[in-house]
Amino acid sequence: MSRFPWLNDVSRHCFEQIVNQTLGHAYLLGLHSGYGAKDFIDSFAQAALCAAPTVNGACGQCKSCLLIAAGNHPDLYQVAADGNQIKVDQIRTLCQDLMATAQQGGRRVAVIQQSEKMNQAAANALLKTLEEPGEGTLLILQSSQPAHLLATISSRCQRLHIPLPSHADINHWLQQQVQVRQDTTWCLPVVGGPQDLADAITDGRYQTLIQLRKDWIESLSSGHLCANLMNIDEKQVSDAHKVLYLVLRQKLLKTPQIDALLAANIVELSTLVMKTCHELALMPNINALGLFQNYLARYNQLTGS
Ligand SMILES: [Zn+2]
Repeated sequence: MSRFPWLNDVSRHCFEQIVNQTLGHAYLLGLHSGYGAKDFIDSFAQAALCAAPTVNGACGQCKSCLLIAAGNHPDLYQVAADGNQIKVDQIRTLCQDLMATAQQGGRRVAVIQQSEKMNQAAANALLKTLEEPGEGTLLILQSSQPAHLLATISSRCQRLHIPLPSHADINHWLQQQVQVRQDTTWCLPVVGGPQDLADAITDGRYQTLIQLRKDWIESLSSGHLCANLMNIDEKQVSDAHKVLYLVLRQKLLKTPQIDALLAANIVELSTLVMKTCHELALMPNINALGLFQNYLARYNQLTGS
């Protein structure tokens, strides 16, 4: 049983393929890390390497399982982005490693996290291995944004479909994990997935997000930037952008009779907010006050306030 109940079916499906010896050679998991992608991949990789797997997963006791628990199984290869990209050299090294004989006599398993970050050269370097993976090779690709993967890559992998939990499921899960009773799922698009939300509730980030939401609602309705937003901590600038995006989108949903032109302009403004948010990491100095005042001025202009 996974700590994430929505992963149970797909886990069992993969474990059965291992036991029945019908496992493919390449799988693509399109799932955000906050929904338990890492937990799933860890258990999948461990079961594929285990000497005595069952339909419930790895045995946890064989030499292979002990090597994984110790964090040094020689036939398990992990690739993650180096900075913002997975580079061609990382993939070339991986492909060479996968050509060698398995040291423990079983499979060789390669995990590529955030595989959408492979640049074109890296993706091309992986193609040959995906086409002719060699005996006993298993590739597991994870991607939070599988639509951004090259079709040549994704078409050569079996897609693992995960039915995402409803907000009610997530609230129930959060109640068990962090004993929270109110509906906190409004900020999922800000934090990522349920695990990130549980972390945010535990470490206090969630309270900050609630405050930011209040601040933006107040500022948009008064037409003046409230004091908290004027003196924002630099670490919260990104969250403030994401919350403003949600507040603007929420406004559209809650005002069904809104004028079509105004709605289109608010969508455009919210898109600008999100685009700027993505660019924040590349900005040498962030003038948060200037950005916020600009958003508010545009909003005031649109609504004529
Ligand atoms: Zn085992």
